[in-house]
Order: sequence, then structure tokens, then C-alpha cells
Amino acid sequence: MKIKADYANAPQWKELTVKSTLPEQLKCLNEIAHNMWWVWNYEARDLFRDLDPELYHDAKHNPVMLLERLSFTRKEEILKDKALMKRIQSVYALFREYMDVKPDNTRPSVAYFCMEYGIHSALKIYSGGLGMLAGDYVKEASDSNVDMCAVGFLYRFGYFTQSLSMDGQQIANYESQNFGSLPIERELDENGNPLVIDVPYTNYQVHAYVWRVNVGRVKLYLLDTDNELNSEFDRPITHSLYGGDWENRLKQEILLGIGGMLLLKKLGIKKDVYHCNEGHAALCNLQRLCDYIDGGMTFNEALELVRASSLYTVHTPVPAGHDYFDEGLFGKYMGGYPAKLGISWDEFIGMGRINPEDHNERFCMSTFACNTCQEVNGVSKLHGWVSQQMFAPIWNGYYPEENHVGYVTNGVHFPTWCATEWRKVYGKYFNENHMYDQSNQSIWEAIYNVPDEEIWETRMALKNKLVSYIREQFRDTWLRNQGDPSRVLNLLERINPNALIIGFCRRFATYKRAHLLFTDLDRLAKIVNDPEHPVQFLFAGKAHPADGAGQGLIKKIYEISQRPEFLGKIIFLEDYDFLLARRLVSGVDIWMNTPTRPLEASGTSGEKAEMNGVVNLSVLDGWWLEGYREGAGWALTEKRTYQNQGHQDQLDAATIYSLLENEIIPLYYKKNKKGFSEGWIKVIKNSIAQIAPHYTMKRQLDDYYDKFYTKEAKRFKEISKDNCRLAKEIAQWKEVVAERWDAINVVSASWDFPASGAETGGKYKLTYVINEQGLEDAVGLEKVNLYVNKEGQERIFNVEPLKMVGHEGNNYTFEVELTPQQAGTYKSAVRMYPKNKNLPHRQDFCYVKWLELPNNQ
Ligand SMILES: *Cc1c(COP(=O)(O)O)cnc(C)c1O
Repeated sequence: MKIKADYANAPQWKELTVKSTLPEQLKCLNEIAHNMWWVWNYEARDLFRDLDPELYHDAKHNPVMLLERLSFTRKEEILKDKALMKRIQSVYALFREYMDVKPDNTRPSVAYFCMEYGIHSALKIYSGGLGMLAGDYVKEASDSNVDMCAVGFLYRFGYFTQSLSMDGQQIANYESQNFGSLPIERELDENGNPLVIDVPYTNYQVHAYVWRVNVGRVKLYLLDTDNELNSEFDRPITHSLYGGDWENRLKQEILLGIGGMLLLKKLGIKKDVYHCNEGHAALCNLQRLCDYIDGGMTFNEALELVRASSLYTVHTPVPAGHDYFDEGLFGKYMGGYPAKLGISWDEFIGMGRINPEDHNERFCMSTFACNTCQEVNGVSKLHGWVSQQMFAPIWNGYYPEENHVGYVTNGVHFPTWCATEWRKVYGKYFNENHMYDQSNQSIWEAIYNVPDEEIWETRMALKNKLVSYIREQFRDTWLRNQGDPSRVLNLLERINPNALIIGFCRRFATYKRAHLLFTDLDRLAKIVNDPEHPVQFLFAGKAHPADGAGQGLIKKIYEISQRPEFLGKIIFLEDYDFLLARRLVSGVDIWMNTPTRPLEASGTSGEKAEMNGVVNLSVLDGWWLEGYREGAGWALTEKRTYQNQGHQDQLDAATIYSLLENEIIPLYYKKNKKGFSEGWIKVIKNSIAQIAPHYTMKRQLDDYYDKFYTKEAKRFKEISKDNCRLAKEIAQWKEVVAERWDAINVVSASWDFPASGAETGGKYKLTYVINEQGLEDAVGLEKVNLYVNKEGQERIFNVEPLKMVGHEGNNYTFEVELTPQQAGTYKSAVRMYPKNKNLPHRQDFCYVKWLELPNNQ
């Protein structure tokens, strides 16, 4: 036998955690570190920082890592430092006071599902806006003391960190997270062993560990498949966010929805409302269907219960933003479900199709979500309308403006995003109740009582903080990556806290039009190089690794920023992240956003700016369309003037330049003897008083309760009591109506509308007799009138219901007397629909039959 040159088996690595021990008197620090309450309570953050500032910086503000690495001597010193020990006690007291509040069970309870949560940089389980929103939401649920739990993933690599090569090419680095050093705790079973969730995948199981993030009073559960119980094929399910192929994405969505529900079941958690934040989590409704069916319900009954207790929030304005799966791939993993549900494969996959019979249509998670959630919403008023149109094809028979898709405009978590400096100002001048009554504009109006000097000093303090942060944070990276040290040092010197600083920081998706500012470089060079009125632009943001165009934009901006005339005037800051965002949204003067309307579903970073006295300059899209007030920021025109996007870009760029040249820069530099512009302070005060109160996460959470949760929980309770009597009744009624729908017919119809045309003020009677085929008063009739809008689209003018006035046997008579109010030509038809007061809305049972209008007399 030939001796092998190399013979070794693969090591079986096991993760071992060695916990550093803290002296008894410091143990409470560990408790605080393991609850992310510290993210939004600066007293705690400042305390951790002061335990060892250098280590805090090295640990990237992660207190768990800080405590782990705290040296023995430093611990001894802390114990001897009376003042510091007192601070520890007082922060701990604050923490306990917060935590020991009794849960409030007066509002419905909610289980929240999302692929990502942005809570702090220390926990890399988010990529951008969606995650930040979900993280902020969970924090607010804690502050508002509602009964909520959340489900997501603990990613091994999370989203990438960004660096740039010498020529501005984005480099994506995936860093593995060491779970032992994160502010999380492992969820254990009753025997003290790691809790394992077994999730069925085709004919085998994937085993997920569970980690718990304590977010104040709310628990966020994270599933993790990167463990030795799984094969090499399945461990990567939770490796990275929005990475991998479509198969991995489907496996992730199975884990989130189905695994997430199995997790809640195992923990014995039941909530009133299940909230899918984005379509990724929609399969939670599949597991819930299976559970009801296991409990003895029919498919249709189970669907009544699941729908009544679920809400789907969509965050994208374009169909291309949804997840679609080919039938083959979908079938590979989901093939076993029709049998569990008691329906056919075509019926099952049809729940994810706009046209269930179209075998070429892929399964769409969002469509599935729409079909299994009673309520659906977009994330701003405009996006609500865009979503109504986007989803309208699911509910044939109704016009987009008629369907039930609603909206809740996104907000941001006030204590997370409001800089400590401003919190102190608000604390001094606002009603003491302001933290609990954040949406009350009258409280915020007290900003008008704050002396202008104090506003300006607060702004300057934050600008200086941002500039120092950039100098400290980027010096080494830039010296390392950008060559020519003298130029780097020169650049750092040029960052000027006294300049008008404008920030453009967000994901580099092309629709956000980061290039807009660079349409006319000569004009831009003039603006930034005015020696009397310096202006500087800070850019930051990541492009998705698969988005070549987005990366191209970064490269282009980077190249421009390196030209002599723009050096130190246009600056690209790498690795836009939570901590950098916190500095930027409070440290610049203007927050700029230039999306192509209406592609910014909401946007939230501009809302963060508002509460920090940073003024918005933005396209009237997303939240800003609602938020903008004259005298409290600047808006680019709402109307699309050109169909041609290139022309539109040119026009918008010219608008930005001229706003800057003629309004913004002169106003900013109209400084008084004290060195600031009173006009500018006025704009700041207006934005804080009139805009900020309406875009907090508290307002958002309250809106979800007012518009959706409370209503759904009430209806769910109604239909599920007495062993689900009403749910069963509704399901049975729908079955009968569906069966006889085609047979329901018009017996006779008449209308005394003159062929020559009606007159306004005249009275014209429309009558139908309908054979309801044994159903009892189960249909409604209405006359639908259309008009053509300026864009040439048909829209609903009005809907005139007919009244059921009596019946003979199966023949029901409907009539209405119509009095035309407005002259003109309308298109009209009569629509028949199933009528039942127990339905939440028409799209819940979307059968529609259009009837011919009778001939004129
Ligand atoms: C707030 C925030 C976002 C979302 O901002 P948009 O205005 O929606 O683009 C993205 N990334 C980070 C780090 C944020 O803090």
C-alpha cells in the first residue's frame, strides 16, 4: 500500500464559551449589558464608556465584549472608585425601575416576524431601512409596554461591512460573529440544554438553536442553524442576510415562517395578532393553518381564523421587489403541505399566484401574504396608494382605490435617534411627560421658547462631534487605503464644522439617485468652493453586492471626491452603519434625499434628522410628502414633469442647485453678531415643532393598534369564541355561496333612464330581480360609475347601492332611485357581490359578478 502523503480527518470544532467573572458588586453590569435597553438610555451607554473608554471603542460599543475584556486591575480600580460605583448603582436602579413595570394587558398582544432587526451595530442582523424599522419598533413596543414578542435570525455573518479600494470599488467583507460576545442569551429547555427547534424540510428536519435578545421588556427570538446538528447543506441557512441563491432564500423563509411558529409553540407563546413585516415571513400563516387543521378544523375554517389574526406590511413599491419561487423549487420543499391542508397542489400554489390557474406564474410570497392576511398595509400614505394599485390584480372586480390595503407611515424610535444633547434640551424645556406623549405637537411647540443661542450651541456641539468622529474613525482607514498620506491629512483638515454640511446617506440603490447632485459639475464646484460660504457634502451608503449599478455610483462619487476642486468638499464615508448614522443624522445641517417618485416607500433617516434639528431637503416622496411644511425644510416639486427620466433628473438637479444658491446657502450664512442665522434657527424650530412629533415610532405603534391590531383582535375573538362557532359559520356560508355563485341570475331588470340622456335633478328608478338560488339575502347590488382622470385612467366616480326591498321565494328585488347630480358622460355598470355583515371587507371574499345595465326606456 502506498502511504498517503497526507492523512488527517477534519477537526470537529466545538464552540466553547468561557465567561469572564465579575466581582459580586459588578454583576449587575452583566445584567444591564445583556439587555439592549442600554442602546437608548444614554446614562447606561455613558457608564459603559467610562468603565474603560479605549476598550469601549475597541469593543465597538458592545458592553458584553467590554465586560469580558475588562482587565483584573481595571475591575479593582472600579471597585475602589466611589463615584463610579455610585453611578453603577443609579443606572442599575433606572434599569430595574424600567423592567419592573407590570405588563399592560389592555392592548392586544402581537407576534412580529421579520428577516432583520437593527438594534445596534454590535448585533449584525440587519442591512438597512427594513431592519432599522423593525428594531425601532421592538424598542418602542418595550417603551409602550405592550405585549409583543419578535422572531428573526441570528446570522453568522450578517450583512457585509464596506470598504473601498483605491479606485472606489466597493469591497464587501463578511465578518463572522462570535455569539458568545454578543448581547444575547441562549434559550434553554427545561433541562438546561440548548433549546432546539426541529423544522421540517421535505423529508428531513433542520435543527435550529434559539437565542434571545432582551430588548427592554420585549423578547426577540433568533433562530440559528449554523450548528453541528445540521448538514453542511443546511448550516448556511442563517449565514447571511439577503445572500445565497433562491433555494437558500426559500429555506430561510421556511425557517422564519414555519420555524418561527414552531418556536413560539415550543415556548408556549400565543398572541392575538401575527404581523408579517414584509413578505419573507408569510409562511408563518402556513404553519398556523396546519395547526388549526391538526386541531380538527377544515381548511376553510382554519383560513378564517388565520386571516382574521394576521397583518401583512409591504415595504416595496414595485412587484420586482417581491420574492418569487419557481414551481419546481417551491414544490421540492413544499410538496408535502397540500396533504396536510387537505387541498390540491394547484390550490395550494395558487394561493401565491395572481391568477391561480396560470401554471407559468411563480409562487409569490407577497401574494400568499395578501391571501392569508385579513389586513395589508403600505408604509406611507403615498406608498399605501401605490400598494393598492400594485396588489389590485389579486382582487379582480374592484378598482385599486376600493381595495382594503391601508397604510401606516413609518416612524423612528425617539430615544434611539435623538442625540443626548437634544434630549437634555427637551428635558429642560418640554413638559416632563414628553417621552410618554411623543405625538402631542403642543408639547413640542415649547421649542419656540428655547433661546436661539441654545439651539445653535446644541447644533454646533453635534457638528463638532461628527467632525471629530470622522477624523478619528476614518484617519487610519484612509491612510491605509488611499495612498498619499499628505492628501489624506489635508482632506481631514478641510472638514469644517463651520461649513454648511449636507448629508446624503442611504443605501445606494439607483432609484435613490445619488448621482443627481453631480449633473453639472461646474455649477457644483462653484457652490462648494465659495470661500465666504463653504458647503460640504457627506455621502455614505452600501450597495447590494449584486447591484453593479449601485456600486458604479459609489465609484463615480468617490472619483469625483478625489478631484482637486472637490477634495474635502465631497466626502464619501465608508460603512454606513448604526453608529455612523447616529452621528450623521444629528451632525449635519441638511439631510438630502432625491429618490425617483414614488419609489421611496417611506424612508426614515430624514425623520431621525428632524428630532435633531437637522433640516430636510428632499423630493416629495415617502414620508416627506406628508411631513413637509413650508418654512420647515425644502421640497422638490411633487409633480413629475417629464416622462423621460433623464430630463426629469436634469430638472430636479437644476432645482437643487438653485434652491442651494438662492435660498439655502444665503439663509444659512445670514449670520447675526452672535454668529448664527436667526432665519436658520427658525427653520429648525419649525421642523422640531411641526414635523418631528408626527414621525416617532410611538406614533407608528399607536397607528398599528388604532388601524389594525385592535380591530383584528376584536374580530378574531368574536369569530373564535364558542369553539369557533362564527368562523365555522362564515366558512360554511362562503362554501355555499361559492357553489351557487354561477347559478345566481337576473330574473328581470328595468330602468326608466331615457335613451336620449338623463337630466341633473331628475329621478330614475333602477330595479333588478335576482334569483338567489336558495340563499337568503346573500348578495348585494351596486351601481358603479367611472370617470376618466387626467392621466387617462378610469377611476371610480361613485358607487350607488341598490336596496333589497322584498322577495318572493328565491326572487329578491333590488331597487334604487337615482338622481344625477353632475352633468357629463359616465361609464356605468352594476356589480353583484356576496353580502354578509360578518366579513371584514369585500376583498375577504372577493366574488364579483358584473351585471348588464337594462336597456333604456
Ligand atoms: C435609518 C437607517 C436606514 C434607513 O434610512 P432610509 O431613509 O430609509 O434610507 C438605513 N441604514 C441605517 C444605518 C439607518 O440608520
